[in-house]
Amino acid sequence: FDALRETDPQIADVVLDELERLRGGLQLIASENFTSPAVLAALGSTLTNKYAEGYPGRRYYGGCAAVDRAEELAIERAKALFGAEHANVQPHSGASANLAAYAALLMPGDTVLAMELPHGGHLTHGSKVNFSGKWFNTVGYPVRRDDELIDYDGVRELALTHRPAMIICGATAYPRLIDFARFRAIADEVGAYLMVDAAHFIGLVAGRAIPSPVPHADVVSCTTHKVLRGPRGGMLLCRESLAQRIDKAVFPFTQGGPLMHAVAAKAVALHEAAQPAFADYAGQVVRNARALAAGLQEQGMRPVSGGTDTHLALIDLRGLRITGREAEERCDAAGITLNKNAIPYDPEKPMTASGVRVGTPSVTTQGMGEAEMARIAELIGAAVRGEPVRDRVSDLVARFPAYPAPL
Ligand code: PLP
Repeated sequence: FDALRETDPQIADVVLDELERLRGGLQLIASENFTSPAVLAALGSTLTNKYAEGYPGRRYYGGCAAVDRAEELAIERAKALFGAEHANVQPHSGASANLAAYAALLMPGDTVLAMELPHGGHLTHGSKVNFSGKWFNTVGYPVRRDDELIDYDGVRELALTHRPAMIICGATAYPRLIDFARFRAIADEVGAYLMVDAAHFIGLVAGRAIPSPVPHADVVSCTTHKVLRGPRGGMLLCRESLAQRIDKAVFPFTQGGPLMHAVAAKAVALHEAAQPAFADYAGQVVRNARALAAGLQEQGMRPVSGGTDTHLALIDLRGLRITGREAEERCDAAGITLNKNAIPYDPEKPMTASGVRVGTPSVTTQGMGEAEMARIAELIGAAVRGEPVRDRVSDLVARFPAYPAPL
């Protein structure tokens, strides 16, 4: 860090300001976490210098012996941790992993059945502004209006009507468990591939806190930076029979040189996720999310679907007559970082939204438990009502410092 401060004090300031923000507030974005110093060390290493197009042992560049070991370790650890026959650890991000999965299994114009965006699906599941919606014919399945859960019979009907080449499950803002076996049965009935986008919850799978999609899916795509607590990046898991198609779809079809510093950091994160302590962590993430959702309910905010089985809760704010955008702004001013989010059948536009999404990966990494979640719910309640709570937020986070060591 001293070298950075000397060469570029402006960027050094940015890094310090961001660290201060992380340390000084509550981080409740469901897709974020605090990576370990070991992951950061791999990310900040000279592995970033290396070109390594291709795969271990089959590279288009010399000098790859060391980085080959990093990628082999990442692949072996991913396969062992998730019981997968094949792993590709090169996708630069979750969206890149999804692009490669589409490329491996489909041709442009094919029909894809995926969760509707306003009900929790991701941009890469068929949004008109994304490759998925422009190059593929996407059909969305909603959640039910009454209980806000996936309507599996409805999904089956849509599958029978539209005969998709691929069905996607996995979402950005769905707080409940997904019945992967049910999706598999629907996919088999119509002869479709089943892709599970586990970006959000793969870390809970790693920690054995929720069931695994790996035995059911043709391809599992994921990110490595959410509950899994690794570097920003993506990963694909699949059966051996699809291994070549997946690898070719990542490189050379959709990417060039892999980010070897990130691949090494993924290996570190996968090693950490295989330790018993990570299972404790993943279990606590879910217990904390449940406690936070229950606490927010006491504050007059309604958890969509009545609660959560995962690391996140989607909160309907209409009972308090406040929009998601207003709540996000008020919480931000109080040092509580969360995001506005559409709720199912939301009457508001996405940039306003009737809800917020909260997640517990980061605060759980800091060591907080259910008692602190109850406190955080009170603080959010006070913040959205416009009470000044910045000092109380500071007092709470001071007891659970993120990145306590100096840079
Ligand atoms: N898929 C899902 C379900 C996601 O929630 C996200 C990101 O939040 C992605 C894919 C994309 O990941 P990335 O932002 O790394 O491209």
